[in-house]
Amino acid sequence: MSNDLVVVGAGIAGASVAYHAARAGAVVTLVDAGRPGGGVTADSFAWIGSAGLRTGPAAALRTIATDEYRRLEAELPGLPVTWSGSLSWGTTDAAPEAGPGQEIVDAATVATLEPALRQPPEWAVWTPGDGAADPVGVTERLVAGARAHGAQVHPDTPVTAIRRDAAGRVTGVETAAGPLSGATVVLAAGVATAALAASVGVRVPAGPSPATLFRFRAPAGLVRTVVNNLDFDLRQVAADRLIAAADSPERTLAAVRSTFRGAANVELLSTRVRQRPMPADGEPIVGPVAQAPGLYLAVFHAAVTLAPAVGRLVARELVDGAVEPQLAGCRLDRF
Ligand SMILES: Cc1cc2nc3c(=O)[nH]c(=O)nc-3n(C[C@H](O)[C@H](O)[C@H](O)COP(=O)(O)OP(=O)(O)OC[C@H]3O[C@@H](n4cnc5c(N)ncnc54)[C@H](O)[C@@H]3O)c2cc1C
Repeated sequence: MSNDLVVVGAGIAGASVAYHAARAGAVVTLVDAGRPGGGVTADSFAWIGSAGLRTGPAAALRTIATDEYRRLEAELPGLPVTWSGSLSWGTTDAAPEAGPGQEIVDAATVATLEPALRQPPEWAVWTPGDGAADPVGVTERLVAGARAHGAQVHPDTPVTAIRRDAAGRVTGVETAAGPLSGATVVLAAGVATAALAASVGVRVPAGPSPATLFRFRAPAGLVRTVVNNLDFDLRQVAADRLIAAADSPERTLAAVRSTFRGAANVELLSTRVRQRPMPADGEPIVGPVAQAPGLYLAVFHAAVTLAPAVGRLVARELVDGAVEPQLAGCRLDRF
């Protein structure tokens, strides 16, 4: 690997890789077909969620995710992140055991955390360290941070091909505006990653997975934490705005109105169905590609939660030549 990187994709994943690599001293070119954060990142619910009881490589990365965001907030003052904690209930029949950083709270405690609830559940999982991001704002801040460390940024520049030399080594990319050279090409192009990799004969088992984001007009202070139950993931994003990740607009609106007092006038403003990049086994695909020297992959789910952690670890691998144990379970060759 070399210090000379082209990062394809300025969603939250690629922006984080570009920022951390540039900060670590790499010569970085970041290229996107559209505007930074304009991919699926733009319509993310953007809960920064810790691992809880989950296991596997992504869960291990989630255990450091909030600390990595706190670090990033110190590096990039004004990063648009809020720390409200999360409350989760009703997703299992009986109260589960609490995971690290979590506690099981009773109805009286839930009522103090979410005072507008009509009927607080008998128990909920309270994760006080959880938070949420303005995903486009964080992406833009990462891109600005990358620029401040010398990165060249090319928005509105679709990558049309990956360039290789006669020996098969990656040497950069072709774009609509001409070639961009780099000894390493990082593919962080979300749902487009598999097709770009396929163009050089590399199979990346990651496909599009739909998810829907609803935006609502709502009274100020209706919801205080990140709420997760069988009906929705729900949070307040501005004094008069809620967002929800859920399935049906009618059911979600009815559920919000019946769950909270003072919600009778909550009004649906928009519905966005977007495709999330989803590796076949749900775990991140991050690392170099043996069959295409110079190619490095960064495609993973819950990329809002994981971007600061993964970006820092990828930069360590690409710039410092480290092999990060926390990425060991994320390699392409597991498939
Ligand atoms: C409703 C919903 C709720 C979600 N909730 C959460 C949550 O609570 N927490 C969480 O962590 N995650 C959540 N996610 C998932 C999260 O949003 C994604 O994991 C994350 O946004 C993926 O980021 P990315 O950078 O990989 O992809 P993208 O944001 O799609 O970025 C990829 C970029 O690559 C660019 N690109 C593609 N092809 C090319 C090309 N040929 N040339 C140049 N550029 C190219 C695109 O323009 C795009 O900007 C949610 C997603 C949805 C839809």
